[in-house]
Amino acid sequence: MKKIAILGSTGSIGTQTLQVIKNNENLFQVKSLVAYSDKKKLNKQAEGFHPLNYFTIKDDGAKCLTSAIKDADIVVVATRGIVAIDAVLQAIKDGRTVALANKETLVCGGELVKDYLSRYKGKLITVDSEHSAIWQCIEGNKHSQINKLILTASGGAFKNFTTEQLKTAKAKEALKHPTWSMGQKITIDSATMMNKGLEIIEASYLFDIPQEQIEVLIHPQSIVHSMVEFCDGAVMAQMSNPDMTLPIQYALTYPDRLPSKAAPLSLADKKLEFYLPDYNKFKCINLCRQAFSRGGLYPAVLNAANDVCVEKYLKNKIGFWDIASIIERVLNEYKTESEISADSLLTTDKLVKIYTENIIDGVI
Ligand code: MG
Repeated sequence: MKKIAILGSTGSIGTQTLQVIKNNENLFQVKSLVAYSDKKKLNKQAEGFHPLNYFTIKDDGAKCLTSAIKDADIVVVATRGIVAIDAVLQAIKDGRTVALANKETLVCGGELVKDYLSRYKGKLITVDSEHSAIWQCIEGNKHSQINKLILTASGGAFKNFTTEQLKTAKAKEALKHPTWSMGQKITIDSATMMNKGLEIIEASYLFDIPQEQIEVLIHPQSIVHSMVEFCDGAVMAQMSNPDMTLPIQYALTYPDRLPSKAAPLSLADKKLEFYLPDYNKFKCINLCRQAFSRGGLYPAVLNAANDVCVEKYLKNKIGFWDIASIIERVLNEYKTESEISADSLLTTDKLVKIYTENIIDGVI
């Protein structure tokens, strides 16, 4: 039996991971559950899965994440932000497999994670649906034969909005995501397409492909989860109904593929559309590319600024259009030359959040 720790067990991915485990009871044993703050839900999960330990970050601090991974073969990381960076690095050092659903860890700390992967025995696998698709497409192929990765995007709730409509688009409209049911932060990131920008950086680290070879295509039906073009021109795509339990199960059972409870895909009479994003309306994708090119701590600067903007947007304190402008301003103004370490990432995250809040409050 594989021993599992879930960091972020009460969120959308955490809950669905437990669903997959329940469907395959004889294969997995839950060792630890860590939630952010939802004690009620955590206690209920603990009753059902009997973990050795379970904590909330709010009560026990981020240290509980590192203690939670101790007995696990696979550490599912579905926390928010970069709170799990130390736990991810420790898990790699210990030789465990990290199943990463949280993209911020790689976006901000990709250099560190890469360094740890080269020095220690631990492995990193992805639970992000697009990246799982790419992973499945490149299995059995040579890295040198990959021409490019094509990340598909649903386009989010505002994909058909005009520039005028975007000016007044409210968070509660964004939360009605057309195809995926996800947490609030990622649903807003999907509406701004920041999510896809972050996924470019994530894909670059996961598959060791330069961002220039990673493209984005809007695909509103969310059936094709991403594609890989090879040197001979062949394009491989991975398809299924939009259902996160599939990439979660693939990560947990890899290299095996097992039957699942996902509804079978029927393509008959289905229309699949693909088009390029409007980069003038959805500026966050290129802000990600810029921050990634600058390197160092700049992806962490972008991520922290975005975190604050999403929070303020959810509270109706700023408009949709402000999100990209504020992030752009922070990227232009905020100077950082520190070396990347887990500590400098967490410090930068804190300082940039204060800086961004000050901009929004009109202090700077
Ligand atoms: Mg994704």
